[in-house]
Amino acid sequence: MNKSDLTIDKLSKGEVSSLEMSSFCVERMEKNEDLNVYISRTPSETILAQAKEADLAKEKGDSKGRLLGFPMAIKDNMCTEGVKTTCASKILGNFVPNYDATVVKKIKAEGGIILGKANMDEFAMGSSNENSAFGVVRNPWNKDCVPGGSSGGSAAAVASGLAAAALGSDTGGSIRQPAAFCGVVGMKPTYGRVSRFGLVAFASSLDQIGPITNNVRDNAKLLEIISGHDPLDSTSVDIPVPPYEELLEKDIGGLKIGIPIEYFSDALNPQIKKGIEASMDVLKRLGAEFTYVSLPTTEYAIPCYYVLAPAEASSNLARYDGVRYGVRRNGDSNLINMYHETRSQGFGKEVKRRIMLGTYTLSSGYYDAYYLKALKTQKVIREEFSEVFKKVDIIISPVTPNLPFKIGEKTADPLEMYLSDIYTVSVNLAGLPAISMPCGLVDGLPIGVQLIGNHFKEDIIYRVAHQLEEALSLNLPDPCK
Ligand code: GLN
Repeated sequence: MNKSDLTIDKLSKGEVSSLEMSSFCVERMEKNEDLNVYISRTPSETILAQAKEADLAKEKGDSKGRLLGFPMAIKDNMCTEGVKTTCASKILGNFVPNYDATVVKKIKAEGGIILGKANMDEFAMGSSNENSAFGVVRNPWNKDCVPGGSSGGSAAAVASGLAAAALGSDTGGSIRQPAAFCGVVGMKPTYGRVSRFGLVAFASSLDQIGPITNNVRDNAKLLEIISGHDPLDSTSVDIPVPPYEELLEKDIGGLKIGIPIEYFSDALNPQIKKGIEASMDVLKRLGAEFTYVSLPTTEYAIPCYYVLAPAEASSNLARYDGVRYGVRRNGDSNLINMYHETRSQGFGKEVKRRIMLGTYTLSSGYYDAYYLKALKTQKVIREEFSEVFKKVDIIISPVTPNLPFKIGEKTADPLEMYLSDIYTVSVNLAGLPAISMPCGLVDGLPIGVQLIGNHFKEDIIYRVAHQLEEALSLNLPDPCK
């Protein structure tokens, strides 16, 4: 049993059993505690008992669940009934939801096994997982480096075989950037594709849940399972979910791929650029046609995102007042003191920074100058993508401007940290789907390539990604071996 055997395909074909897979993950969880990928873990005995039960059900033909016995991690901002959901924040340190998020319900309904709740940046705010109240996650490829964020625990768990797959959430890059840093496949679906019911809100108009997996096929299978309309989330869209997996092999000859010139400036690490260009060569050989396209507003995407996301966050996080959820501090004093103490002690530094930024840009006198202006910029960004998608089927780009950085390297300068999101935030602002998949190793660290599609065109992204993956046949080594 190898890390590469941790796929839905091998499990459903019976090439490995759930018990083999789950024992592999459990053993790795026990041996690699220093990676700090889990905030809470299902007890090993429970996992193994569930795995045995799944194997038995399969043997008897009792269950047809598409994920029967498949061991997964869930980012700790998705509600799990009876299991602590902290959002990596002290303020939710004791929060045990009494319901499952829709995505969790769907995974359980298909027979998936939940190994634990993955570490993350507090309230999903960050690009390095250093903002967690439960400690930093280490990158399995180099333990001195960050795994990316905010779904750092989810991506590192999959990369190191501490889970066979994971769910993450992406508001400005939080699935794709850690997927790139950890050498795994991460999909941020179209806004509205996946229900957000039970996902703790950061910036509701941008948040989207997506799968993090070892390969593109598993990713497509998982997205098929978690997608679809949910009456409990009014922003989830009621349009059919295509059979992503069935479409993977469809020829990509003649498909038009756009290269956005603004994404290949001097800001991009030249080795990452080389990696992306190698992927383009492969896609050319497969018959895809390339054209240069322009997204001139790209340079305003970071300021636009860092006005809009904190504005929404400041409003969403107002509910953590020590009354309705989580931890309460100094409850015997007067109400205002109690709020003050609870929020001062409960939130970490970055979360407080975002609340202050958001409150400021929404306040009267500054609303027009910041919030409204950012909304107008977002509209232009959306329109630019729409224009580009009249000419091309898909856009290819880097995921991150740099290789995984060292723990502590960017913590002193928030702006420097925010710049790691330069190639990912526009996609969220435009509500588009995009995947990050590994395209090489540089100095022993993985690099990712991003494929961006038009709204609800995840099928095209998966086709291109799958065929690129096959042709590249990277066979990345197991970082934990
Ligand atoms: N790094 C970005 C931020 O800190 C994106 C986070 C996310 O996608 N959740 O806001």
